[in-house]
Amino acid sequence: MLDKIYITRKLPEEIVEPLREKFEVQMWHSEEKGMTYEEIKTNAKDAHALWTMLSDNIDRALIESLPNLKVISNFAVGFNNIDIEAAKEHGIVVTNTPGVLTETTADLTFALLLATARRITEVEQEIRSGNWTSWSPMKYTGMDIFGATLGIVGMGRIGEAVARRAKGFDMNVLYHNRSRKLDAEETYGFTYAELDELLKQSDFVILLTPLTPETKGLIGERELNLMKESAAIINVARGGIVDEQALYDALVSKKIWAAGMDVFEQEPVPIDHPLLTLPNVTMSPHIGSASIRTRLAMMQMNAKDIEAVLESREPQNRIV
Ligand code: NAP
Repeated sequence: MLDKIYITRKLPEEIVEPLREKFEVQMWHSEEKGMTYEEIKTNAKDAHALWTMLSDNIDRALIESLPNLKVISNFAVGFNNIDIEAAKEHGIVVTNTPGVLTETTADLTFALLLATARRITEVEQEIRSGNWTSWSPMKYTGMDIFGATLGIVGMGRIGEAVARRAKGFDMNVLYHNRSRKLDAEETYGFTYAELDELLKQSDFVILLTPLTPETKGLIGERELNLMKESAAIINVARGGIVDEQALYDALVSKKIWAAGMDVFEQEPVPIDHPLLTLPNVTMSPHIGSASIRTRLAMMQMNAKDIEAVLESREPQNRIV
């Protein structure tokens, strides 16, 4: 009997086809509509490998309901959607897609930074709705990127790639991690700062930590109050790292100037979410790694790691 792989979203056949030669592969029928928790539980019940999306909640109960499971391969670098401890206890390998999406996600982060600073989505809406009636000296003005101070919270692979881009814009780069990166400080001239200091000094704050119990709610009312009134915050990491109610209040009361968001506490973000009513919030629908080449490379990585574990070899990107 061949080992069985279950894939929780429809993926391109060019990626899946080679796996079919060695394994029994079953795949959810839709690319657009994800699976519910119960659907995963039922459809994957005898799977040896589970290929998951970041929108799938793979908790302890689900893991314990899949007796044959040897590997969970997550189509993302973040893995906050998976109960890693439960997987470890049951000897299940978990893999992700680090590195391959770093530069693409850094590009999107920079795009969101530029769009937020120069109000690109807001002013495009002005044109489309017929409100652009004359050129104006101060209307539609934004903030300068060049020469500004950028604070990166979570200076990992993607943080560093963003910081390298920032150097090309003559930005002064501060960063905060739990540990210092002395090599990067020396090579690129980035400066370490404690979180409060970074928030006080930065014109733009970019969040790029993983979502963990420690980073959940890392940026709340107190932290937003430390920021400059002219500053903007950009979250490309995960929803929940910024307290969205506190962010809304800070934007409405003009404690900060603007926000850029690729990720939200609830995704897709509900259409009646208060943040959607604010013109100074620039948004994208969780597309950090969404270039054609990178998404295909991430899939290749997952496929190789699933194959490795099922063939009793060490996968390349093992979390546990
Ligand atoms: P990484 O290389 O592991 O970097 C994460 C950084 O966060 C590390 O430098 C880490 O440094 C720091 N960090 C962790 N916990 C922290 C804390 N409590 N306080 C301060 N800093 C902390 O990961 P990456 O590949 O750059 O990815 C970062 C995150 O981006 C992922 O986890 C994912 O959630 C998100 N992401 C989003 C998208 C998207 O589509 N929007 C795409 C890719 C990734 P220390 O350990 O020294 O603290």
